[in-house]
Amino acid sequence: LSKMSNEVEKASKAKYEKNTETIFDKIIAKKIPADIIYEDEQCLAFNDVNPQAPVHFLVIPKHRIPMLDEAKDSDSEILGHLMLVASKLGKQKLPKGYRLVINNGKDGCQSVYHLHLHVLGGRQMKWPPG
Ligand code: IMP
Repeated sequence: LSKMSNEVEKASKAKYEKNTETIFDKIIAKKIPADIIYEDEQCLAFNDVNPQAPVHFLVIPKHRIPMLDEAKDSDSEILGHLMLVASKLGKQKLPKGYRLVINNGKDGCQSVYHLHLHVLGGRQMKWPPG
């Protein structure tokens, strides 16, 4: 299996349980290690364990929003903050450009139900994405 179909398979098997903690909560709590590249009171950024590009990191809110579709109007500030942090880190690490991705739900290929922005770069990205 290619990496791509592995990710699709993982996403199709991932169960969405609204109130169940994910591996990202353990990373936030420092119960399991991660390659953390940025942290503030509201969010955390760390390198993806299975990178799909030379640079691939995730930006996540510390407060768990399971998926984009679960975001509330009251989350607008954190949603904006996540994008701005992605942009600050992106500019720094990927001055030639980068891509932001949010996978939402099964068809979106979401496998971890804790909202995260993927930041990918370090190569010419293709369009359309798979
Ligand atoms: P999704 O498919 O958009 O839900 O992306 C989940 C991402 O989390 C995938 O790219 C995984 O490689 C990544 N991931 C899963 N577990 C870990 C971990 O423990 N550390 C870092 N990244 C992880």
